[in-house]
Amino acid sequence: SSNMAKSKFEYVRNFETDDTCLRNCYIVVRLDGRNFHRFAEQHKFTKPNDNRALGLMSRSARSVMEELEDIVIAYGQSDEFSFVFKRSSTWFKRRASKLMTHVASQFSSSYVFYWKEFFLDQPILYPPSFDGRVILYPSNRNLRDYLSWRQADCHINNLYNTVFWTLVQRGGMTTAQAEDRLKGTLAADKNEILFSEFDINYNNESDLHRKGTTLIWEKRDETVIKRMKSPDEEEKHVIRSRRRVQAHHCDIIGEQFWEEHPDILED
Ligand code: ATP
Ligand code: ATP
Ligand code: MG
Ligand code: MG
Ligand code: MG
Ligand code: MG
Ligand code: MG
Repeated sequence: SSNMAKSKFEYVRNFETDDTCLRNCYIVVRLDGRNFHRFAEQHKFTKPNDNRALGLMSRSARSVMEELEDIVIAYGQSDEFSFVFKRSSTWFKRRASKLMTHVASQFSSSYVFYWKEFFLDQPILYPPSFDGRVILYPSNRNLRDYLSWRQADCHINNLYNTVFWTLVQRGGMTTAQAEDRLKGTLAADKNEILFSEFDINYNNESDLHRKGTTLIWEKRDETVIKRMKSPDEEEKHVIRSRRRVQAHHCDIIGEQFWEEHPDILED
């Protein structure tokens, strides 16, 4: 508080180190659930993908975008979410620790706050936590490659998990047998197991699971009825533009998504 400002103790502030993020760079904060292998087990997540858990992750990420400033896009899969601050952001003077901790704590508290909207009567058994890291990307190419990397990771893991749990749940294998069966297999082999043994075309699996979740801001024109305070109580229709967070489950590696949303990246 201000009456402490000039105490003899004030010098300890000088021990704080500068963690300002380099100007002009996109600031990415990636969160990842701590020990979610266990969290998923204890909360009986369905395998390979629990849609309640994915919905809760997205809801928490939307809360981060709505409550914090300057996030232009977020991408999530499994127990992780990445948030991209616009390169010109000056929020919290671009201090990495401030940005990262605000993202992590807003996300964690939202995860608990919105839990019952997704898991209904099933209680949350202990407070989950998320680690955070900050990465700076100096070019649009680097940022797009970062997001492509995360989406490629989603694809690789989801293909593996889909075959693994199909072998267990429908093929009657133990988890050890399924693991053994998949050792050394390539993507084509996994697709082939699904197709020839279980009549599953991986490409027809849900976009949410194969592509993850991309959140961006979308402008919508809304018509609102305004009651004028004039004596004749006239009603007026006013068109306002509102921003809201929209979820996509599409490819973000190719050009199409970026051509359709040219205002996400800055020059
Ligand atoms: P910032 O986001 O910059 O931290 P702030 O509003 O949190 O803004 P602080 O300097 O952290 O500002 O001050 C916290 C404020 O919260 C106090 O000024 C006080 O008004 C309120 N507050 C916190 N804890 C209590 C408490 N236990 N009882 C009453 N008021 C409290
Ligand atoms: P760490 O603390 O090192 O991150 P972790 O156990 O969280 O350890 P991750 O590599 O982050 O390991 O993997 C997250 C795990 O959480 C997945 O392997 C999966 O078991 C589980 N998981 C997360 N989300 C879901 C979901 N929606 N449905 C099913 N399982 C999930
Ligand atoms: Mg305080
Ligand atoms: Mg405070
Ligand atoms: Mg990890
Ligand atoms: Mg994790
Ligand atoms: Mg993870």
